[in-house]
Amino acid sequence: MAIASFFIAHWVLSIFCQTFFLHRYSAHRMFRMSKGWERFFHFLTWFAQGASYLQPRAYAILHRMHHAYSDTPKDPHSPRFFATPFSMMWHTKDIYLGLLGRKVEPESRFENGYPSWKLLDETLNNMFVAVAFMAAYTLYYVQFATSPWQYLLLPIHFLVGPVQGAIVNWGGHKYGYRNFFNKDDSKNTLVFDLVTWGELFQNNHHTFGMAPNFAVRWFEIDPCYQVMKVLQFARIIDMTGAQQTRWEPGDEAAPDGLPAE
Ligand SMILES: [Zn+2]
Ligand SMILES: [Zn+2]
Repeated sequence: MAIASFFIAHWVLSIFCQTFFLHRYSAHRMFRMSKGWERFFHFLTWFAQGASYLQPRAYAILHRMHHAYSDTPKDPHSPRFFATPFSMMWHTKDIYLGLLGRKVEPESRFENGYPSWKLLDETLNNMFVAVAFMAAYTLYYVQFATSPWQYLLLPIHFLVGPVQGAIVNWGGHKYGYRNFFNKDDSKNTLVFDLVTWGELFQNNHHTFGMAPNFAVRWFEIDPCYQVMKVLQFARIIDMTGAQQTRWEPGDEAAPDGLPAE
């Protein structure tokens, strides 16, 4: 029970930070928040992703490249060009590390507008800190594991950020249904996406790139957006002026995609 709770808590918090802070805020700037709250969520992302923390700058540039070149050879992670999610993410890792170490020069249009915090993004973003996080997860398992097979979950804790990224990047461009025929292979994989907090509405998101709500049809629910509405009500974030996304077949075409029906 202690292992299941820890695993679920780590998974849920990590993917929430990835979609809310790294994706919707850092890469897309879909909403605003004060410097203090930005720091709070930046720290939460560093802590939650832990051993596999993804730096907002490198993440944002990588993700903006993905939107600009979705499912073309210049996309950092398109399943169209790889046999398995592992080979795809290995390729993505090389580009990510190039951006992180500033050995890859991004197009200037992909730069700026992302949060940066030298302490977390550079000073504490290293192998020693990653090993310390891994040791902490392992000690927890040593303390609470009730069966040896549970240790097989440890690699997912070590690599939670990239594992969740792989599920979204592979599944979201390969499996599911389409509301819109846009230029890429993006799909909506789950109608009630509790596994990745709404990230698997890739087809909707690639069509309405700047909309904070990834759900567009009446039967779709984006859990992260529900949390964002609460944060908006509490005046922690400000989504005023954001693109709105409700859409049903028969409505006018979406900004970047024709209806699939
Ligand atoms: Zn995006
Ligand atoms: Zn995508």
